[in-house]
Amino acid sequence: MKVYKFGGASVKDADGVRNVERIVRSADSDLMVVISAMGKTTNALERVVEALAAGQEEKALAQWVDIIDFHVAIMKELGLRPGADIRLQGEIPYDARLPYDQNYDQIVSTGEILSTQIIAVYLLKQGLSVEWWNMPKLLRTDATWREAVVDDKTSRAVIRSGWERAGRPHIVVAQGFIGGTADGYRTTLGREGSDYTAALMGNYLDAESVTIWKDVQGILNADPRIEPNTVLIPSLRYQDAVELAYSGAQVIHPKSIRPLENKRIPLLVKPFGDPDASGSRIAEDGVGPIDIPVYIWRKNQILITMRAKDFSFVLEESLSEIFDIIHRNRLKVSLIQSSAVTISVCVDDSRFVAPTIEELKSRFNVSYNDHLSLLTIRGTTPEILEQAKKGRMIMLSQTTRRTARLVVKEE
Ligand code: ASP
Ligand code: MG
Repeated sequence: MKVYKFGGASVKDADGVRNVERIVRSADSDLMVVISAMGKTTNALERVVEALAAGQEEKALAQWVDIIDFHVAIMKELGLRPGADIRLQGEIPYDARLPYDQNYDQIVSTGEILSTQIIAVYLLKQGLSVEWWNMPKLLRTDATWREAVVDDKTSRAVIRSGWERAGRPHIVVAQGFIGGTADGYRTTLGREGSDYTAALMGNYLDAESVTIWKDVQGILNADPRIEPNTVLIPSLRYQDAVELAYSGAQVIHPKSIRPLENKRIPLLVKPFGDPDASGSRIAEDGVGPIDIPVYIWRKNQILITMRAKDFSFVLEESLSEIFDIIHRNRLKVSLIQSSAVTISVCVDDSRFVAPTIEELKSRFNVSYNDHLSLLTIRGTTPEILEQAKKGRMIMLSQTTRRTARLVVKEE
């Protein structure tokens, strides 16, 4: 069997869904099809949660109705009957007694539920043998809302037996990004987490390969929205892919490599607009190291600098304390730099940052710079680095022989 994953951009409208049908129909094996929410639905649902938490019920309801309408329009274009073919949830799954993050998971997960229902029913009506899976009941996680940890043992057993039971030949359509707790609450695995779901499915079901269908030709050496001249990297090793993903390359989610590497399952990244193109292949026997310069931007960074309040002690001795605070507050560190009296960390800017800074302030003198980006250049040369620095305000730079990392002020 193979795993196919379609992201939000590939199912943003009725044409996208028809394209999924074409790709799925021409597959030469049983398929586990993992799908994200349509288009920008996840962002829209996040705004519903924000409005509800702020007590703006009318605003939330209006946004919710817009989201439902968006899906209804796609259903109609596909010849489906909203309400008859697909049940629509009228009420927002919100419970004011629950914590924000728990409500977030109940609400935001509806994006994937809707997209997979629409696509499963559409494929069925086109005569394909399809089963729709409800991942909150199958992919068991803990209750770390918005960043749930998957219980591999339980999930593997449930998913394997579900797969064995399903009729053959078959196509299973399942939600990426979401799972559920033992007591029946839906959870999410962290933004952009559908790739990770696809990788887990590949691992659990011993897939021949996992294919991520994207709106780009494959893995490129730079983001085509930023750099006009990009080059496709046809073959990579797992370790190089992990490094690219952690540096912020948008094509693959960092967590999606390990489950595949563990079972030596190749990961293919292919353009959904051109299914016969070869794309990129990440595998055990991939070609490495990558021999062209690779540019990776990680946006929305904040640089936090800590200085010891009392110069009589060495900051290095507080390292474990600093990282404990950072870890407990769920910040993701993208770069670390230290001097004798300061430590700077670059982290993804999020709502977790403010409380972290508060906590750090009780122990250190803290300053920060926001609206930053981190540019990682792999395979750099002095000339390339010079070129990259030109016209940019560099807050910090870290270079080794082959890799340069620049913290840059956003324009
Ligand atoms: N729909 C979710 C998100 O946008 C998951 C995903 O797309 O992978 O974050
Ligand atoms: Mg998405």
